[in-house]
Amino acid sequence: AADAQSPEELAFEGALRPKSLDEFVGQRKVRGQLDLLLKAAAMQDRTPDHILMAGPPGLGKTTLAMIVAHESNRPLRMSSGPAIQHAGDLAAVLSSLMPGEVLFIDEIHRMARSAEEMLYLAMEDFRIDVMVGKGAGATSIPLDLAPFTLVGATTRAGLLPNPLRDRFGFTAHLEFYERDELEQVLIRAAHLLELDFDRYALREIAGRSRGTPRIANRLLRRVRDYALVHGTTDGMAAVQGALELYEVDEYGLDRLDRAVLETMLTRFDGGPVGLNTLAVSVGEESETIESVVEPFLVRIGLVTRTPRGRIATPRAWHHFGLTPGQAAAQ
Ligand code: ADP
Repeated sequence: AADAQSPEELAFEGALRPKSLDEFVGQRKVRGQLDLLLKAAAMQDRTPDHILMAGPPGLGKTTLAMIVAHESNRPLRMSSGPAIQHAGDLAAVLSSLMPGEVLFIDEIHRMARSAEEMLYLAMEDFRIDVMVGKGAGATSIPLDLAPFTLVGATTRAGLLPNPLRDRFGFTAHLEFYERDELEQVLIRAAHLLELDFDRYALREIAGRSRGTPRIANRLLRRVRDYALVHGTTDGMAAVQGALELYEVDEYGLDRLDRAVLETMLTRFDGGPVGLNTLAVSVGEESETIESVVEPFLVRIGLVTRTPRGRIATPRAWHHFGLTPGQAAAQ
C-alpha cells in the first residue's frame, strides 16, 4: 500500500482482515462482480480471470486479493511492483508458481518496464521468454508456466499502460466507504479485539475515518490507547480526546489533506491551480496528491477538478474559516 505502515499496524491489520466475501463490509458492487467471476471459474474448473483492484490506499485491495485466493481454495503469492525491478525478478516469481496459484502484485504500476512486457505474455499465454547470455550471443528461451490468476492492485488504473490494463479480465473499482459501512467495520473490529466501546463512540470514529477502513482501524487503536491511559470507560470522551490529540478534524482530514487545502486557499486564492504546482508547493509527489489526497477531497466536495486545474469549493473556504481574496493578501 502507498501509505507507510508500522509492524504493529501490519499485525493488527492481519488480525482484522475479513477472510471471505461475506465478511467483507461494503463495496457491494465489487463483491457481486467478484463472486460471479469466482463461481463461474469454479464451475468450469479453471483458474479465474486476472483481476485488477483499483482505488486509494486502505480500501481493501490486499484483503480482496486474499479473499480471492481463500474463496477459490488456491495458494497465494504476494509481491509488489517496487520489488520487481528487473524482468528477471518477475521471471523468478512466475516460474515458481504452483498450478492455479493466485499471484498478488501490489502497486503494480511501479513495476519495471521490462517486467511489464514479460507479464503481457505470461498473462495471455502462461508463457515467458527468458533471455540467456548477453550481447550477440544472447538467446531467448521460451518457458511454459503453470496457469495462474494475477491480482494486481494500483492506486490509479490510469497509471497503467493500456496493454497491461487490457489483459485483466475484470477491474474492480473500489470506492470510499459510507459512514454506516465504516461503523460496521469498527463494530466488527471492536468485537474481535474485545474492546467495549459503545455504538455512538464507534459511529463518531466512522465519521472521521476519511471513508477508509484502514484509517478507521487506526483511529480505533488510538482511542483504545487513550481509554487505557486515561482509565476511562466513557467511549465518547476517549474518542474526542484521541481525535483532538491526533488532530483529526470533523471531516477526518489528515495533515497532508489540510496542507494541500491550505496551500490552495492561501497561496493560490482557491485556484485553479495545476497538479504539479500544487505538489511542489506542499513538497509531495504529484502522484500522491492525485491518487491519495485528491480523490477524498473531491468526494466530500472540498475540491473540484476543472480543465484549468483544481479549485477549492466554497465549502473548503468555510471549513478553514477563510474568505477568497482576503486570504492571499495575509
Ligand atoms: P489496500 O490494499 O487497499 O491498501 P487493505 O486490504 O490492506 O487495503 O485494507 C486495510 C485494512 O482495512 C485491512 O487490514 C482490513 O482489516 C481493513 N479492511 C479493508 N476493507 C475492509 C472491509 N471491507 N471490511 C472490513 N475490513 C476492511
